[in-house]
Amino acid sequence: MPRSVDHGESIRLDNLDKYGHSGSPNGVMTAQGDSQTGIHKRSVYEHNGVAVCSQKRALFIATIVLSILFLVSLIIAYAGPQSDCPCAGEMPSNLDEEGGYSGTRNVIPIATNNEIFPWNSLRLPVFAKPSRYHINIHPNLTTLDVKGQVTIDFQVDKESTFIVLHSRNLTITDKMLTDRKTRLPITRLLEYPPAQQIYIEVKEKFRKKVNYTLVLRFTSRLSHELEGFYLSSYTTAEGEKRYLATTHFEPTYARTAFPCFDEPQFKARFKMSIFRDRFHISLFNMPIINTEDAGFYMGTGLLRDDFQESVEMSTYLVAFVVCDYKHISSQTAKGISVSVYAPPDLIPQARFALDTATSMMDHYEEFFGVDYPLPKQDLIAIPDFGVGAMENWGLITYRETSILYDANETSAAAHQWVAVVVAHELAHQWFGNLVTMRWWNDLWLNEGFASFLEYFGVDHVMPGWNMMEQFVLDKTQEGLSLDALTNSHPISVGVHDPTEIEAIFDTISYNKGAALLYMLEKFLGQDSLRSGLNDYLNTHKFGNADTKDLWAVLSKHANQSIQVKSIMDTWTRQMGFPLVSISKEGNTVSASQTRFLLTPNPQKQNLSHPPSPFNYKWYLPLSYFTDLNPEEEEIVWMNMTDVKFEVANDVEWLKANVNQSGFYRVTYDDEMWSAIIAAMRRNHTIFSPADRASLLDDAFTLCRAGLLNVTTALELSLYLLKERDYVPWATALQHFQAWSKYLAEAAPYRLFLQYMKHLLGPVAHSLGWEDTGTHLQKLMSSDILVSAVLRDVEEAVKDAKQHYKEWMTKNVRVPPNLREVVYSAGIKYGGVKEWQYCWAKYNTTRIPSERKLLLKVLSVASDPWILQRYLLATLDRDMVRPQDVKLVIANVASNPEGRLLAWRHLRAHWTALQGLFGNGTFTMGSLISSVTSHFATEYDYKEVSTFFRRLNVGSGVRALDQSLETIQLNIYWVRRNEEPLFQWLTNYLSR
Ligand SMILES: [Zn+2]
Repeated sequence: MPRSVDHGESIRLDNLDKYGHSGSPNGVMTAQGDSQTGIHKRSVYEHNGVAVCSQKRALFIATIVLSILFLVSLIIAYAGPQSDCPCAGEMPSNLDEEGGYSGTRNVIPIATNNEIFPWNSLRLPVFAKPSRYHINIHPNLTTLDVKGQVTIDFQVDKESTFIVLHSRNLTITDKMLTDRKTRLPITRLLEYPPAQQIYIEVKEKFRKKVNYTLVLRFTSRLSHELEGFYLSSYTTAEGEKRYLATTHFEPTYARTAFPCFDEPQFKARFKMSIFRDRFHISLFNMPIINTEDAGFYMGTGLLRDDFQESVEMSTYLVAFVVCDYKHISSQTAKGISVSVYAPPDLIPQARFALDTATSMMDHYEEFFGVDYPLPKQDLIAIPDFGVGAMENWGLITYRETSILYDANETSAAAHQWVAVVVAHELAHQWFGNLVTMRWWNDLWLNEGFASFLEYFGVDHVMPGWNMMEQFVLDKTQEGLSLDALTNSHPISVGVHDPTEIEAIFDTISYNKGAALLYMLEKFLGQDSLRSGLNDYLNTHKFGNADTKDLWAVLSKHANQSIQVKSIMDTWTRQMGFPLVSISKEGNTVSASQTRFLLTPNPQKQNLSHPPSPFNYKWYLPLSYFTDLNPEEEEIVWMNMTDVKFEVANDVEWLKANVNQSGFYRVTYDDEMWSAIIAAMRRNHTIFSPADRASLLDDAFTLCRAGLLNVTTALELSLYLLKERDYVPWATALQHFQAWSKYLAEAAPYRLFLQYMKHLLGPVAHSLGWEDTGTHLQKLMSSDILVSAVLRDVEEAVKDAKQHYKEWMTKNVRVPPNLREVVYSAGIKYGGVKEWQYCWAKYNTTRIPSERKLLLKVLSVASDPWILQRYLLATLDRDMVRPQDVKLVIANVASNPEGRLLAWRHLRAHWTALQGLFGNGTFTMGSLISSVTSHFATEYDYKEVSTFFRRLNVGSGVRALDQSLETIQLNIYWVRRNEEPLFQWLTNYLSR
C-alpha cells in the first residue's frame, strides 16, 4: 500500500505521521484551489441530463418517491419474500466474521435521472464476476481531456436482470452489451454518484455460465488531485516545464479512471492500449507487445501502445503512466527485467534503487519460495505523489524522495528511507498483489506484512544497518504509543465507505500489524513462519484471503502445537495491549496482566470499555532474563491469565520483554525498578541497546499514564550521560521532545530544557564534526547534533553556525549527515538573509532529498514574521507543492516559536487546506494531530474542541478524537507532575 511520506531526517523528533496518507491536492495546474474540479463535475452530470431542479420540484419528487416507497414496502412486507427484488440490498457473502459490516443505507438512493436507484448497498452484488478488462485510453496532456473505452467480460452465478459496478466522475457516452454472439438491449443505465455506482438493467435475464461482454465508452478529465488518473509535472534542468499523466488507485480511485468492479475481491485480467504522442512513452503493469500508428487526432500523429495481458489482479493495483522519462535496467537472477524510470537528468540518482530492488527481488523469491509472476518490474519517480509509494503490480510508483539517492548529497536517514520503501513495495508484490485481503477490514494483512518485511528485507541486503534494532524504535514503540488511547481501534476493523477505508491506513494497521508479526516470528521461529508463508502464498495465489486463513496455515506449520488463531485473535480482534506487572517475593515471581490505557485519571478509568470478546486479556509470550544470567532468555506463556514462576533466590532483578520484541509493556515493583536503574547507571551495557530503549520507553510511558513517578523516569534517564548508542537515544529524544512540548507553559520548562542540554552535552561532544562511522553512528550524529543545536548546547551551536557561514559565504560543502544540523543552526540563529539563502537553494537544487531537508529546516526559524510568511507560502502551489504542505505545517507546529502560528494558520485557512486535500484523505486528520496534539492547557482544549465542533472533518474524525484525548492527557500530566518535576530538577541542577 501507499507508504507514508514525511520521514523526518532527524527521525521521530517531530512525530510526523510516517505512514498516513498525505495529500490529494486539487490542482497541479491551477493557481489556487479553484473551482475547476467543480465545473468539471457539473459538466459530467449535466451531460446525463440530471439537471438542476428547483427546491419545490425536488420536494415534490421526494414526496412522490417516499409515498411510492412506503407502498412498495407495504407490498413487500405483506407479500412475502421476493427473491428478485434488489431493493433490499443483497448482503455480500463475504462479511467479516464479526459481521461488522452493514451495507444498507437509510436514505433512498435517487439516481441522476431522478429515478430510484435500485441497488441499496455500498458494496457491489457478488453474483456478477468480471474475468477480463480491455481498456483503451487516450489522455491529452495539453487539453487534459481523457477519452476511454472499457470492455468487460463477465459471468453471473445467479440469474438476474441487472449488474452493478463502480464509476465516479466519468461521463459515459456509449454502452453496448453482447453475449459474444448477439447484441443485447440495455433497458436502463442509472448512475448514483453518492455510492459511486452505476446500475445496468437488461430485458432478458443474465443467465448462468454465459459469457457476457459490456462495452462502455467514457470521457473524463485528468484530475488535479493526487488520486485516480492525474496530471503531474516537473521542470527540466533547462527550466522547461514537462507534464506527465499518472495513476493512483488505492483504495477506491480506479473507478474514477474507468468503470469497473472496484473491490479487491473482484480479480480479473487486464489488457491495455494507450494512445500517446510520439515524444512520450507509456507504461502499464505489463510490458508493451506492439506499437502502432493510430492516425491523427486533433492535428497530431498518435501512436498506440498495446500491452501484454496481466495476471489476475485487483483493480486498485492497476497503473499506467504517460511521460517523457528515461530509464536504467537490470535483471534478477531469474531473468526478470527490473527498471527505474525518472526525469532524464535525475537518472544518475536512480542507481541505488535499481540495485536494491534487483537484489531484494532475488531475496524475496528465495525466502518465500514463490516466483515473481510478471515478466518485468518497473519503479518510477513521480514528482507529485500523495503517499510515499504505491505497489501497483509491475509498475511501482514512488515519491521522488522515496526512490532517488545521491551518495554525495543524501543523508544516511534518507538513504535508509529509499531502501525501506523499495523493500516495502516489493514485499507487497507477494503480500497484497499475489494474495490480496478479501476486503479492506483486513488491510493490516497487506500493510502489517509489508511493514514487517521492509525491515527484514533491508536487514538482509544491508546487514550493517541493524534494522531489527531500529524496528523496535520505528514500529513497536509507535504502535504502542497510539494503541494506548481509548480512541484506538482493533486491527481488524469493519469498514464500509471510502472515507472509512481511507482512515484505516494508519499506525495501527502498519505499525501494530508489523509489531505483531515480529512477535509471532519470535514464538513460532523463523522456519515455521517461512514455511507457513510459503504455504499461504501458494494456497491463495491470484486469490484473496482473510486473517483467519493466515492463522490456519501458520497453525499447521507449527504442527498444531501452537494454536495461532486463539493466540492472535486476542491481539487482532480487540484494541489495545497488556501491561505486565512484575513483582518478586523470595524466589517467586508474579506476573499479572491488565489492559494498558493512557488515561487522564487512573482511578476512574474503565478498563473494560468498549466491550471486548476477550475482556482485555491476551495470550502473551513473556520473555525475560535475570541479572544472574543476562545471556539466557526464558519464556513463560500467560494464557489470558496471570502467572507465577520461580527464579534463583539471589536474583535481584529481571528484565522482561527481551529486546521489546513483544507488543506489551512491563512494570516492576518499586524495589526492582530501583535495582534496574542502579544496574543501568552502573553498567548499562549488560542490557542490549533495544532493551535499554525498551526500559526508557516503558518508564516514560508509565509515567505519562500516572503509573510510575516522574522522578523514577528521571533517575533512569541519568544513565544517558554515558549512553552512546542510537536506538536508546532516539527513544529518549522522542520522550524528551514530547515533555518539552507539554511543559511549554509550565513552571519547570526552562529547567527541563537545561536538563536536556546537560544530558546532550557529553554525547554531542563525543560525536565531533566528521561525517564518518557506521550507518547507526551517522543516524545518531545527525539526531543528537540537531537536538543539541535546537536546545542551544553552546559548543554545538557555535560549530554549526561556523559551518553555515562558510557554506553561505564561501560555498564550502557540508557533508550529508551534518546538513540538517548546520542548516538548522543557520536558520534558527540567523535572520532573513540566512533563511532566504536556504529558500533559494530549495528552489534551485535538483536533489529531491535536499529539497525535502530544506523545507524541513526552513521551519526552525525563530522570527515569527518569517514563520508566518512560510506558512502562507503553503497556500501557493507554485511555492510549495501540495504533497509537501503537511511537512511544512507540522514542522512549524513543532517549533516552540511556531506552534501557535501553525494552529492559527490551520483555523484561518481550513477551507483552503480542505480544498487542497479533500475530506476523503487521511491528510486532514494528520494535520489536526500534528498541529494540536501537543497542547496542554484547558484553554487550548476548549479552543480546539470548539473550533472543530461545527466542522465536518471527514476521515479525520478519529485523529481529531485522538488529539482531543491526548490534550486531556497532557493537561493532567502537567498538573500531576509540575511540582515534583520542578523539585527534582531544581535539586539535581543545583548539585
Ligand atoms: Zn504498503
